[in-house]
Amino acid sequence: MSEQPVPVTVVTGGSRGIGAAVCARLAADGHHIALAYHSDAAAAEAVAASVRETGRRCLAVRADTADEADVDRLFERAAAELGPVTGLVNNAGVSGPVGPLADADAAGIRRALDVNVVGYLLCARRAVRDMTRTGGGAIVNVSSAAATLGSPGEYVHYAAAKGAVDTMTVGLSKEVARQGIRVNAVAPGVIRTEFHADPARPDKLADGIPLGRPGLPEEIAGAVSWLLSPDASYATGTILRVAGGR
Ligand code: NAP
Repeated sequence: MSEQPVPVTVVTGGSRGIGAAVCARLAADGHHIALAYHSDAAAAEAVAASVRETGRRCLAVRADTADEADVDRLFERAAAELGPVTGLVNNAGVSGPVGPLADADAAGIRRALDVNVVGYLLCARRAVRDMTRTGGGAIVNVSSAAATLGSPGEYVHYAAAKGAVDTMTVGLSKEVARQGIRVNAVAPGVIRTEFHADPARPDKLADGIPLGRPGLPEEIAGAVSWLLSPDASYATGTILRVAGGR
């Protein structure tokens, strides 16, 4: 039997939270990884070192996913150092200002839309260009349950951005299916990470979650890994909600 090539996956926002858990899970499931981070080089290097301990290859690249040149550099380094990219996890996200929309500043709203929407589009565009040449692949967009809940009083602009992520997932999946590229999303509910401006937010919301607790990053990582895997070969355009019933 011929040996399957090792998948090479780009994970944005891999330095902490959900992205770091995705890196750990993908390494365990046999991927080489190029992880992108924005500011915390030490955290990114620590994740990369733990991936390498599993025997997989990993590079940490500083890249602002909202910046076209940074995105191109990220994918170029991934392909040059790890081999043709077969997977993308669009995960780097920020909430922007917290509170009612009436109080939100325009620069903060723009930044949230830039990272969560333009950044996802730029990374997906580059992945599609590369995967079309190299024989296909899979993209997983980390969306949010906020896309359907709307996040009133917290960050309506962020929820709207994640609504756009769901829409791009559906549209792009149809656009590139015949190129051998699958595009899906995972929509997490409230997950314990440093994403929350108020660290107590996950516990404060626990009562309103049918399963009675916030989720853990590892509980999202398994869903991401499945969507990238051959087990999900007939899944495309899917938005998999992993939100404790919320
Ligand atoms: P997190 O703990 O705040 O981590 C965010 C990650 O994104 C960090 O690695 C950060 O890098 C990176 N990042 C931020 N802006 C970036 C940029 N412009 N370019 C590249 N990297 C950037 O967040 P998280 O909770 O893991 O969230 C991950 C994803 O899940 C996001 O898309 C978020 O919207 C989504 N989500 C989270 C929750 C939740 O409850 N936590 C729920 C639903 C959806 P540095 O540390 O280097 O800055």
